[in-house]
Amino acid sequence: MTARPRVVVLGRQGSGKGTQGMRLAGQLGVPHLSTGDLFRAAVRAGTEVGAEVDHLLKEGLLVPDDLVIDVVRDEAERSQWSVTGYVLDGFPRTVAQAEAFFGTPHIDLPPEATSHGAFDVAISLDVPLAEARRRLATRRVCPVCGTIVSVDDAAVEAIPCPRGDGTAVRRGDDRDDAIDRRLALYERETGPLAPWFAAWGRLVTVDGTGTADAVYQRLVDSLAPFVGLTAVPPH
Ligand SMILES: [Zn+2]
Repeated sequence: MTARPRVVVLGRQGSGKGTQGMRLAGQLGVPHLSTGDLFRAAVRAGTEVGAEVDHLLKEGLLVPDDLVIDVVRDEAERSQWSVTGYVLDGFPRTVAQAEAFFGTPHIDLPPEATSHGAFDVAISLDVPLAEARRRLATRRVCPVCGTIVSVDDAAVEAIPCPRGDGTAVRRGDDRDDAIDRRLALYERETGPLAPWFAAWGRLVTVDGTGTADAVYQRLVDSLAPFVGLTAVPPH
């Protein structure tokens, strides 16, 4: 079996990176891995780090960088990421995590040659701050089926779920002050990762504004030279 593409997706909250990342993983035939997925896999695997993560999450505490890295390294080895490929969504979150997993640009070997971590390309899904804030403030989620809908006016707090099983409401972490806090934290912690990946010569910046289909087309076009994608199949 030939190795499959390894792609890292970056983008602030509201950039649509979860949606785009899942669609891309489907087309590439690789697992879409969020940090939450990795934590759950570690807990299920019953490893020592898994038990530690389980404890922290149950206490509602933040998982520190070194433990996140342990989890990711374990998972990378156990699930043979070098063979399966991946779309990573939410890891790395900081430059410290990135260096621990992928090495240091200009000092270490090219990314395909490093021992534990390797990647083919990183995508930065670029959505202006004001647009990200608007998307998050107009997002409503049905607590029954999880369907996400968007309202035209942020003042509309709740609308009937289009699937008819409940009322879509604003999530607690989509309150205006919480949105601003999350976006500011992302800027501080994760913002420096785009130039970090660019230093490897493997960063692709994709305009994340417009319809999901238009964004995906742009994304595939930009990735083609790195991962051998050619056309968007019917969706
Ligand atoms: Zn619903």
